[in-house]
Amino acid sequence: MFASLAGRRVIVTGASKGIGRGIALRFARAGCQVLVVSRTFAEADAVAAEIVRAGGIAAACAADISKQAEAESMAGAAVAAFGGIDILCANAGIYPAAKLGTMTESDFDRVIGTNLKGCVMSVQACLPAMKAAGAGRIILTSSITGPITGYPGWSHYGASKAGQLGFMRTAAIELAPSNITVNAVLPGNIFTEGLSELGADYIRKMESSVPMRRLGTVNDVANAALFFASDEAAYITGQAMAIDGGQILPESLAALEEMDAG
Ligand code: NAP
Repeated sequence: MFASLAGRRVIVTGASKGIGRGIALRFARAGCQVLVVSRTFAEADAVAAEIVRAGGIAAACAADISKQAEAESMAGAAVAAFGGIDILCANAGIYPAAKLGTMTESDFDRVIGTNLKGCVMSVQACLPAMKAAGAGRIILTSSITGPITGYPGWSHYGASKAGQLGFMRTAAIELAPSNITVNAVLPGNIFTEGLSELGADYIRKMESSVPMRRLGTVNDVANAALFFASDEAAYITGQAMAIDGGQILPESLAALEEMDAG
């Protein structure tokens, strides 16, 4: 039985849709107070309103987390709304594809700026409030792409997601004395608005590469984030957990064929 997280003050970046929205709704259902963050206020506000309509506590904030000043205003908004910050889900990320032959400097800067720098800026901005509270939980949304696997078109993305884990390991050491843990969820292919834009053909191929034969849901990822935020995970820090239906396990297509053969 897990202890209640009711009343914990949570920031979820990139929470206007997709995995972040799923995390925000899940933490709200667990009784947390949730700051829903994205660059587009109206979309963040719609998710906050959805939480409030369901009887939860939420507020919305527009911030571009790749900019230090805006990440700081986001942390300030959580302190103003809820009186502090207990949990940060640094989830905002983008995944525009670009192969090496055509990737521009600005493609690279945008992906690294949002996914890696944005993650670091979000964490840094929340530290004063977490240290004041005497504890904190930080959950990064990385990916299997980069830390474990590769996919043509996503070399910059993979670098950003692997970079998050490099950041996490040192941050976890630096923050351990402050009773702040830092862990990462590594989603496989999760069905989101962002992923659906990659097309039906891509989604069908992805499903066939997953031993569980389905894409993940945003709740699959949110449940893992909730675990890292729980009191029961207090002694876990600097760890990465794949939520991928076994996607990274088969060593070849033959392994999946053998699985199907029973
Ligand atoms: P999504 O549906 O495209 O949603 C992305 C969210 O991030 C939106 O709320 C977006 O809102 C926000 N965002 C983007 N740039 C931002 C910025 N600079 N500052 C603040 N918010 C920003 O994406 P998703 O598929 O849920 O992915 C969420 C995270 O999971 C990402 O880190 C992604 O790399 C990771 N991931 C996803 C999958 C998957 O299968 N979907 C797999 C592995 C990892 P605005 O545009 O309004 O700012």
